[in-house]
Amino acid sequence: CSVTRPYRRVLVKLSGEAFAAPDGYWLSAQILAELAADIAATAEAGTQLAIVIGGGNIIRGARMTQAGWIDRPTADSMGMLATVMNSLALETALNAAGVSARTMSAVSMPSICETYARQPALHYLDRGQVVVLAGGTGNPFFTTDTAAVLRAAELRCQAVLKATQVDGVYSADPKSNPGAVRYDRLTHDEAIQRDLKVMDTAAFALARESRLTVIVGSVHAPSSVRAILQGGAPSTVVAP
Ligand code: UDP
Repeated sequence: CSVTRPYRRVLVKLSGEAFAAPDGYWLSAQILAELAADIAATAEAGTQLAIVIGGGNIIRGARMTQAGWIDRPTADSMGMLATVMNSLALETALNAAGVSARTMSAVSMPSICETYARQPALHYLDRGQVVVLAGGTGNPFFTTDTAAVLRAAELRCQAVLKATQVDGVYSADPKSNPGAVRYDRLTHDEAIQRDLKVMDTAAFALARESRLTVIVGSVHAPSSVRAILQGGAPSTVVAP
């Protein structure tokens, strides 16, 4: 839909892979700076932003466990720590881009960053600060998609923007299926009935139950976060 609908408060979910350098190094300073500039411009335009970052550019717990020498909760702890590293990198880049940002971690590590608590997070958002939510949900066996939906519901966000490499939800995999069409709009029930992959199952179930709008869009192009939220870039909006 082409109608510009300004969102007042949004949670942006970034995959860890969004930070990775083309040569495979976990972090590209240039990509990070571009993303931070986009997020800063969106915040300056008046949208309150909370950000959840994954850790997939460093570690994914489930994948690590497949090697057989480490148990899942320990590997997931490492994954949560990876999200803290990404969060600190983004906080630094956001502050350099001129917007006040603070990292709050679901896993308590007071000498490194503040521990997440809902009331202070709401207060920072009201003040226009960007809140970077680290450590996922703080529990093993979950993903940062679930953390994103959980925090969005808790912090009364009007939408979760799942920023990926694809510009929306398609009827089939657009890479292998040239006839695949991108949906502009779906309900949660339609996405489930058509077996469309919006985010992981646990996360999407929570979004549906919370009646939370999920926007899927690509952060491949410059300034995409701002463009997607202002209706100037393609996306799929999943809403009740
Ligand atoms: N993780 C976890 N609990 C959470 C969120 C994340 O244990 O609530 C761990 C899990 O091992 C996961 C890793 O952190 O694989 C990185 O998160 P995710 O896979 O969601 O990152 P992304 O794919 O978005 O980069």
